[in-house]
Amino acid sequence: IKEIKEGKVIVEKEGQKQEIYGNTIIWSAGVKGSDIVEKSEIPNKKGRIKVNPQLQCEEFPNIYVVGDCAIATDKDAIHAPTAQLSAQMGDYLAELLCAKLENKLFAPSFKFNHRGTVCSIGHTDGVGIVYHKNVKGEMAAFMKNTIENKWLYSIGGMDMVLKKGQFRYRTSN
Ligand SMILES: Cc1cc2nc3c(=O)[nH]c(=O)nc-3n(C[C@H](O)[C@H](O)[C@H](O)COP(=O)(O)OP(=O)(O)OC[C@H]3O[C@@H](n4cnc5c(N)ncnc54)[C@H](O)[C@@H]3O)c2cc1C
Repeated sequence: IKEIKEGKVIVEKEGQKQEIYGNTIIWSAGVKGSDIVEKSEIPNKKGRIKVNPQLQCEEFPNIYVVGDCAIATDKDAIHAPTAQLSAQMGDYLAELLCAKLENKLFAPSFKFNHRGTVCSIGHTDGVGIVYHKNVKGEMAAFMKNTIENKWLYSIGGMDMVLKKGQFRYRTSN
């Protein structure tokens, strides 16, 4: 996809530009892993590496993989690569590595705690599920910004929120 214009998508196929017309255009590009991983000797799928319940690469157990580069499963279902999953994997791995450095046994497997999903649609609209409750419209857009600002606060305090925070929410009125 090269460009999206009102009522059409411009694509390039084998060097030729084409236009696809539509009234409703939904962008659904997937998330891929890293090019470095893709070109490495570690078996991977589009830059993503299959990991065991302790987030280790099966072929190289001294390599742990978190975030978008990891293919982690729960009862055969692959976790969708999201920021929420990445953050929880990071916390888990920090605990695991600290235990290893202290020569302690670390038995727990990684378990994803799905707290909900919120998707913004433009600046004032969205949909989602937060703690098993459906949210939509301006409330969902507000939740999305709040989640992002909370995350920024957790890594860089108020300074980070003021510098990089999302304050674009405004009501449609
Ligand atoms: C458009 C878009 C919207 C999204 N919306 C949502 C959402 O609403 N909710 C949600 O949960 N998730 C969302 N995601 C997914 C989410 O952003 C990712 O799942 C998450 O950021 C993955 O975290 P990560 O740490 O694995 O990778 P990243 O956050 O991508 O971090 C990887 C870092 O590594 C750096 N890096 C890469 N290569 C090198 C290199 N060679 N040397 C040094 N540094 C390098 C990159 O610059 C980057 O900072 C979205 C993703 C996209 C693309």
